[in-house]
Amino acid sequence: MSWLIRIRPGVLVVFGSSAIGGAAYRHFKPGSAEASLNPHTFTPYTLVDKQDVSDTSAIFTLRHRDGAPDPESVKEAWKRSVWSVQVKQPQLQIARAYTLLPPKTDGIQAGEKEAEDVRLLIREEEGGEVSTYLHRLAEKSTIELRGPNVECELPHDIKEVLFLAGGTGIAPAMQVAQALGRRTGSKMHILWANRRREECIGGVSDEHIPANPIIHSGTSWWRSLIGLGHTAAPQAVVDKHSSQGKGVLVQELEALKECSQAGTRGLSVQYYVDAEKTFIKPGDVAKRLHVEGPEEKGSRLILVSGPDGFIEHWAGKKLWVGGREVQGEIGGVLGQMDLKDWNVFKL
Ligand SMILES: Cc1cc2nc3c(=O)[nH]c(=O)nc-3n(C[C@H](O)[C@H](O)[C@H](O)COP(=O)(O)OP(=O)(O)OC[C@H]3O[C@@H](n4cnc5c(N)ncnc54)[C@H](O)[C@@H]3O)c2cc1C
Repeated sequence: MSWLIRIRPGVLVVFGSSAIGGAAYRHFKPGSAEASLNPHTFTPYTLVDKQDVSDTSAIFTLRHRDGAPDPESVKEAWKRSVWSVQVKQPQLQIARAYTLLPPKTDGIQAGEKEAEDVRLLIREEEGGEVSTYLHRLAEKSTIELRGPNVECELPHDIKEVLFLAGGTGIAPAMQVAQALGRRTGSKMHILWANRRREECIGGVSDEHIPANPIIHSGTSWWRSLIGLGHTAAPQAVVDKHSSQGKGVLVQELEALKECSQAGTRGLSVQYYVDAEKTFIKPGDVAKRLHVEGPEEKGSRLILVSGPDGFIEHWAGKKLWVGGREVQGEIGGVLGQMDLKDWNVFKL
């Protein structure tokens, strides 16, 4: 189990225990060809599908090579955590973390099926060792995974989540959306920023966002932070990466929204596109921090996920202390705001 403790105003510390890892260990039979995904050894999966999302990112679908069922740890992780797996680059013997996308909504909740395909949204980083290796693999290749690794556990009394996502940071946002879909009365807002429209073709915000050409003319803060110039998506690229005018992630977000309508107070999504000069503003965050009434008891969480520059801009840097990564002070834009009773977690 892991939990959040505020040790002084503006500081969050995460403690973790091996409850989830322990559960996985009980289900792992060393030497068995059918060993399930576990946090101790790499388990072979087969790449069964790769669906392009844009020119630089794709959804990889991986299937357990021997069809072993998901361990309890995975089923538990889907219910209450943001979690990832490590993917191995066997030639260099290095691994990187990737966040699982929730299974496509088909009326069956994640964790209820015997074995799920693993779906990863992977952006190809220029010069990146593991992401470029993965993007070059042919179908039917073997990819080895280790996990689950719980990044953040949702409090049991979670009532509301505001998720600031940059780029592939949408994957953990979708995990949280499916987990909250099981919690009656919960509510979630996703503010998703992308550099280019091709990542979120056809995504229409629940609330109109006016473009702001005056403040953000030329290169944006986010683009300049990561050193990229201005690029608009050519129509051919847009056509290539959408079906019926909607990108695959937009379609999945819409399905999650529909599911959330049954038992929750809803999921809202705002799309921001750098190239269209729409940017998440502090006011977009502030207006979602209001609490509706005293009857709305429960914890509220702001999650921030995306490239390092995005996290730093909104919530300040994560730190390394004693060989492990910790949350550090809440800095950046959120550090300047009145967050009321909302906690902040940097993913
Ligand atoms: C918990 C977690 C979950 C994640 N989930 C996802 C996910 O769902 N999807 C996703 O796409 N990513 C995700 N990531 C990021 C992912 O783990 C990798 O960091 C990312 O894919 C880059 O890895 P790489 O090996 O390809 O690049 P690296 O080899 O690590 O390089 C990263 C960048 O640094 C540059 N670089 C490397 N070495 C140098 C150097 N010496 N000097 C200058 N520049 C250098 C490279 O050119 C590249 O642009 C996640 C990360 C974490 C921690």
